[in-house]
Amino acid sequence: HRAGVALDTLVRVQQDFPIPGVLFRDLTAVLANAPALADVADALAWAEADVDLIAGIEARGFLLGAAAAVRRGLGVVAVRKPGKLPGAVLAEDYALEYGRGRLEMHPDDVPAGARVLIIDDVLATGGTAAAACRLIRRAGGIVAGISVAVELPALGGRAATGEVPLHALRAW
Ligand code: IMP
Repeated sequence: HRAGVALDTLVRVQQDFPIPGVLFRDLTAVLANAPALADVADALAWAEADVDLIAGIEARGFLLGAAAAVRRGLGVVAVRKPGKLPGAVLAEDYALEYGRGRLEMHPDDVPAGARVLIIDDVLATGGTAAAACRLIRRAGGIVAGISVAVELPALGGRAATGEVPLHALRAW
């Protein structure tokens, strides 16, 4: 499909970024290309899934998540790095390759029982997406699925996110 072709053509692979040994997939050229952005946003929006609200993970998931939300006529809830949200937040910690990460969310942005689709650019170990799932459930929402542009299957993200339906436009 067109989104897959856009990713094949426009994703740049950068060795040793942000640290030595990491092969980084860079989607900025996809975002900067109007038809590619529209195709990827439409595919991430996952028309077949029953969804009330999109959750975008800081920072690249904000760009793709908001684009997908607009294409489906939905709102977007921000899942942020620590200390960025002014209201009462829920927080979840997760393991990073080196050290720990934390995500925060305003629970009031998730209506009770809302079916939430999590969107991010890349699923690697799945730690980030799993933390976002925990935040949404603690806020009273239902995780309808996880939608990512690129899945890195060697890093095990599909297992780390459990039973949640995973929609990946490309697996590299
Ligand atoms: P995970 O928690 O290991 O699944 O890592 C996923 C998070 O790290 C996502 O928020 C991604 O944006 C980011 N990430 C991991 N690997 C890459 C990559 O190769 N390119 C872009 N982002 C990445």
